[in-house]
Amino acid sequence: MNIDYQEILDEIYQEIKPFKGEGEVADYISELANIDPDKYGISLHCFDDQEYALGDSREKFSIQSISKVLTLSLAVSQMGDRIWDRVDVEPSGDPFNSLVQLEYERGIPRNPLINAGAIVVADVLISILDNPKDDLLRFVRSICGNDGIDFNPKVADSEKATGYRNAALAHMLRSFDNIKNDVDTVLDFYFHQCSLEMTCQELSRTFLLFANHGASYESGEQLLSKRLTKRINAIMQTCGFYDEAGEFSFRVGLPGKSGVGGGIVAIYPQQYSVAVWSPRLNPKGNSVLGMKSLELLTTKTGLSIF
Ligand code: GLU
Repeated sequence: MNIDYQEILDEIYQEIKPFKGEGEVADYISELANIDPDKYGISLHCFDDQEYALGDSREKFSIQSISKVLTLSLAVSQMGDRIWDRVDVEPSGDPFNSLVQLEYERGIPRNPLINAGAIVVADVLISILDNPKDDLLRFVRSICGNDGIDFNPKVADSEKATGYRNAALAHMLRSFDNIKNDVDTVLDFYFHQCSLEMTCQELSRTFLLFANHGASYESGEQLLSKRLTKRINAIMQTCGFYDEAGEFSFRVGLPGKSGVGGGIVAIYPQQYSVAVWSPRLNPKGNSVLGMKSLELLTTKTGLSIF
């Protein structure tokens, strides 16, 4: 089927205009509060190596929670299924930074894409990597084929300054012995991974890995096994959108992940990877225009995994 993606992106851009002022920028991380709320970019990378893009698609933004998919991938690539002893794979139905479930489920986070789960994954990486932050950067740069990807230390520091909830989660995890390393070291790694900056173009290129059964789109090298890639995609599908994962599946029908920086990335296996960025968030923490854009994309193309 021949789809004119550029025309579809242009149509989407017109149709989302009435919703442009809806939602609020995340301001609990002070550096994120300074972002122009009306930025909008989208990039779609197809398997035929074509990229279709629009708006601020080449401007860097803070990928925040989207990084959780990348750290999980690095962890499973190193230790395989043993990771699931430390973190479960069920949707939480609670906000991403909730403490309550963790207490009554005795320190085993519901999934790796909520903060508690990602903090456990951060701890795992600190245990198994020689230079955790550098090794993470190397991994992400190699998937994307781009050495320019980096942390934003200002964003990491500003989150550290007010990251009381994440500190509470990490200490609770430590009390259940589900964190093995120094809590401050784990939090420092976590805040850095969240501060990773990418453009929509870089993000969509990076996530081609998950659309490509775990083989690098750049080199063809199998970075993740097919089986583990299936698991990560399933977790994105069921847990990738805070307590709105059902709504995203319902409206869009693709595996993906969002972040409070306003980014959303989603994949259509063997077809494309798409990243959209618009900083205004709905009350659940997902980008308003990002959700609308992807809903329109799968509606207009008639393609989703369902
Ligand atoms: N660094 C953010 C936090 O832990 C990530 C949140 C997100 O993007 O969901 O609060």
